[in-house]
Amino acid sequence: MHPLPRLLILSALLLGTGAMAAEPGSPEWSRVGDPAHGPASVIGSPAAGCLKGAVALAEDEHAFQVLRPSRNRNWGHPATIRFVGDLARAAKGEGIAGPLLIGDLAQPRGGPMSFGHGSHQNGLDVDIWFRLPARPLSRAEIETPRPVSMVHGTEIDGSTWTPAQARLLELAARAPQVDRIFVNPAIKKAMCRAAPADGDRDWLRKLRPWWGHDEHFHVRLTCPADSPGCERQKPMPEGDGCGAELESWSVKPTWPAPPSRPHRQSRPLPEACAGLFPKG
Ligand SMILES: [Zn+2]
Repeated sequence: MHPLPRLLILSALLLGTGAMAAEPGSPEWSRVGDPAHGPASVIGSPAAGCLKGAVALAEDEHAFQVLRPSRNRNWGHPATIRFVGDLARAAKGEGIAGPLLIGDLAQPRGGPMSFGHGSHQNGLDVDIWFRLPARPLSRAEIETPRPVSMVHGTEIDGSTWTPAQARLLELAARAPQVDRIFVNPAIKKAMCRAAPADGDRDWLRKLRPWWGHDEHFHVRLTCPADSPGCERQKPMPEGDGCGAELESWSVKPTWPAPPSRPHRQSRPLPEACAGLFPKG
């Protein structure tokens, strides 16, 4: 990590220890170690939200492994937890080597994170790595995993990207509960090229080009029926997104990903999130 972000994180943590420590929207959400009990409910949006009744994603070594468990970011709405298991089993069923490596979901009560993501706040986001290890990672490897990029420059890296990654991404995008998936523009381009021109290309729309996302893809689920306080995402443009929109990315530097910065909350959290934050 660049030394400046580290310094800023440190100041943020120090500033967070005063009387305002329990304010929703502060990095203090990262210190809450347990979920808010009650029926599962998503509140707000991925970039300004929180989560009640979260469930932890428990490792299933044969199907998937949870990376960096010490971060305690393996919490989600039950629909997200189910999705990960279903995807891992479907991938295994198709002979895709695994286990799948699962990155961050959300904190136990969601909310803003002290570093790393602007989203992942309401329990509907999950990062899944493209790296497909031939054997399960060791405890030490899980805590400090080595990412493998699928992109070189503005193109896919043919030495790391294989049909298995492409199929895994297609399986995820075809799941009806998936709203959208963020991937590097080079990956979207490769998926657009590979999908048959005369076949069903509707699912390609869900692949959204974004900076970074060259070693993992970021899945976002739709609002679950049990969550009236969940804010729906803006609809995506019609079509498969393989044309002008994707072209517009070809002039932007999208790889490598910009260094992660401490997150500044751009929107206030919904009022309902205040009730989830422990007083004191
Ligand atoms: Zn993500």
